[in-house]
Amino acid sequence: MQQKIDQVVDVLQQAVRDFPQVCFASSLGAEDMVLTDLIDKHRLGIEMFSLDTGRLPQETYSLMQAVSERYSTPLKVYFPDNAAVENYVAQNGVNGFYGSIASRKACCFVRKVEPLRRALNGKCAWVTGLRRAQAVTRGNLEVSSFDADFGLQKFNPLLDWSHKDVWAYIRNNDVPYNKLHDEFYPSLGCAPCTRSVTPGEDIRAGRWWWEDPESRECGLHTSKGTQVAHGFGVSASSGVLKQRVPIFLEKS
Ligand code: SF4
Repeated sequence: MQQKIDQVVDVLQQAVRDFPQVCFASSLGAEDMVLTDLIDKHRLGIEMFSLDTGRLPQETYSLMQAVSERYSTPLKVYFPDNAAVENYVAQNGVNGFYGSIASRKACCFVRKVEPLRRALNGKCAWVTGLRRAQAVTRGNLEVSSFDADFGLQKFNPLLDWSHKDVWAYIRNNDVPYNKLHDEFYPSLGCAPCTRSVTPGEDIRAGRWWWEDPESRECGLHTSKGTQVAHGFGVSASSGVLKQRVPIFLEKS
């Protein structure tokens, strides 16, 4: 385990060395909490930010507060453009995202993609908590590669970590995490668009569950038309929740 941790720190240090304007996009998911802890513990000076869509679960706001109290590295929070949200709600209704895929993607664009673009503006690299085992579409990802969608280098230091590695680190280091992970929410997003999953269901089944699986992406981690899940606490390489036990209690 220590070797895996050292490798992650090496990647983060390389990112800082080669790309001084590097930032870390934290979704506050389990993987991102590991990276938050390592970035802060090793005083890497990587700017951390998160997106507040305005529709997050209370548990996510509680974690956001816990992060600001626990760590000295500031967590900058980006919000959607208020005029864009007002326009979206006027045209679609406050819960208009249930009405159609187009309406849902428009909401994700206003509340997530545009703020992300703003957060990445002026940066030359970003760090994410993506893992290869979270989805078959991640098999070709690299630890470091150029992200053509956003025009900057992208680092995925946890790419080869397993779900158990992530939760072992969280347990061993008493890292704060989203309590919804204990309630069978392996993948977390906005409250109205996320539900818990049951054994046998895909770990992404709780995200935009009313849509066909192929449309379920929010535009934060897509490349060349390939859907890449933005999931947290992914429980198995198969992408299926095998047991209805709290995710953090699974044996490492
Ligand atoms: S996940 Fe749902 S509420 Fe959140 S931005 Fe997308 S459509 Fe809107």
